Amino acid sequence: MREAEPALNGTGLNGASSSVQAVPDKIVTPCPRCRDLTLRRELEKTLMICPRCGYHHRLTAKQRITYLVDDITAFQEYDRDLTPQDPLHFVSRAQVYATKLKENQNETELSEAVVGGIGTIEGIRVSLAVMDFHFIGGSMGMVAGERLARAMDRAADMAIPLIICSASGGARMQENIFSLFQLAKTSATLTRLRNVKMPYISVLTDPTTGGVTASFASLGDVILAEPNAMVGFAGPRVIEQAIHQRLPSGTDTSEFVLEHGMIDAVVDRRSLRETIARILRFYTAS
Ligand SMILES: [Zn+2]
Repeated sequence: MREAEPALNGTGLNGASSSVQAVPDKIVTPCPRCRDLTLRRELEKTLMICPRCGYHHRLTAKQRITYLVDDITAFQEYDRDLTPQDPLHFVSRAQVYATKLKENQNETELSEAVVGGIGTIEGIRVSLAVMDFHFIGGSMGMVAGERLARAMDRAADMAIPLIICSASGGARMQENIFSLFQLAKTSATLTRLRNVKMPYISVLTDPTTGGVTASFASLGDVILAEPNAMVGFAGPRVIEQAIHQRLPSGTDTSEFVLEHGMIDAVVDRRSLRETIARILRFYTAS
């Protein structure tokens, strides 16, 4: 259960915080890499990519879906009413889980860390599920897992491709074993796509860590990642604390895992949509 500890304070394994600083400011957004300040409206025109250094800012689920589908107004969201519960009545010294859920729902205007639905990408109908790191570090609670599994089921039932964009610190400690169940459930549900011979494209965004990396995020027929995204199981900080050694710079980035054969390609956000469409056409051409 160690991996989920950081979710307590909304921080992923990698030390990536989901605190207020990580949520883009309404007017001016600082770049975490080059420290340049960019007007929010200018940043949105470049898909939240820093115009100076190319840093890919984290997206909300809504931004991600908007950038991927043909028409956001035609995107049909499912399971919004499937809302998280607090089965363990989890309370720690730092917080009450039920209160944290409400705070995150108010801040993000989401009811959970996963948004799933049906949309089209260059005219191809897909089942799309997107994780939002701003909601308790994108951690996998019961409902997050159930929404992902239902997105997989919809793809299988409708015989359409599945696309999942991951952004997560891993399991949600406050839901303990119920959270870990989701890793097995989502991995098992994915096998349904084999029967309908439809592809699953897994898109890893910053950060994708913990149990999400260890389950469905690594099971794509094609696995893509955004540049410089943190991708791995435990983040460098946790590994360094465990082995008492400094890790080489760049460990656990998308470029590092590409070099080591864990993913298929690193794709700039500006070409992600057309890359996905090209892959879908390749897989679904009759
Ligand atoms: Zn920058």
